[in-house]
Amino acid sequence: MGRSIFITGGSRGIGLAAARSFAEGGDRVAVAGRSGAAPEGVLGLRADVRVPGDVERALREAEEAHGTVEVLVANAGITIDVPLLRMSDEQFETVVDTNLAGAFRAVRAAVASMLPARRGRVVCVSSALGFLGSPGQSNYAASKSALLGMARSVVWELGNRDITVNVVAPGIIDTDMTRPLTEQRRQELMRMTPLRRMGTVDEVVAAIRFLASDEASYVTGTVLPVGGGIAMGL
Ligand code: NDP
Repeated sequence: MGRSIFITGGSRGIGLAAARSFAEGGDRVAVAGRSGAAPEGVLGLRADVRVPGDVERALREAEEAHGTVEVLVANAGITIDVPLLRMSDEQFETVVDTNLAGAFRAVRAAVASMLPARRGRVVCVSSALGFLGSPGQSNYAASKSALLGMARSVVWELGNRDITVNVVAPGIIDTDMTRPLTEQRRQELMRMTPLRRMGTVDEVVAAIRFLASDEASYVTGTVLPVGGGIAMGL
């Protein structure tokens, strides 16, 4: 009968592929994004993770349709790449507000539902570059590495409930986010990637699916790099 699954940023890229994959496996899936777009068989909800209360409302709507959320994938994310000295407060804050505070709002809302049910899986989508650092991405890397500290703190707070919180750290994945990369930057990133190719959304989804599975019941507070070796040893 499947599980009730809520994904932020499921209109494109990794989130869309995850939504499709869970739905094909028989889960009841809702995605929340600014566009409200969703593939067939998935409930699309309009929500901006930057707007306080929006993601909470979307989660409630998802639960009205699908029942108490059992899996959250906090995936919505953006980049605004600018070198440090030219980066405005607004460019820094917009990225951190979306990637970190947006994930915080989604995790808080989902965990509030999971606690009484004493059951749940939370997967936060970080980035290998959050840990390696990346030129022009001080805002993005700060937001993505901070997800791990947030996840590990929540793990402690959850104690012995059957709720796990984990982080996936994709490397360079072929989506709208990486399409604007210059050829030079793309080649630099490939030199940093032992497998010497970009990853596919499905390769990230496989890791998300594992961390969301019943089988991953003793895996919590971890970071799982999916980057063709780019972040070996994280
Ligand atoms: P895309 O740009 O393809 O998709 C981003 C998704 O986030 C969209 O569905 C978008 O939906 C949603 N989103 C953005 N801002 C908001 C917002 N304010 N509120 C709600 N939803 C929002 O990116 P990817 O699929 O590549 O990225 C997904 C995640 O994976 C991101 O967190 C990204 O940082 C991370 N990642 C990606 C990597 C890559 O190489 N592609 C590598 C490492 C990590 P909408 O426009 O409808 O709001």
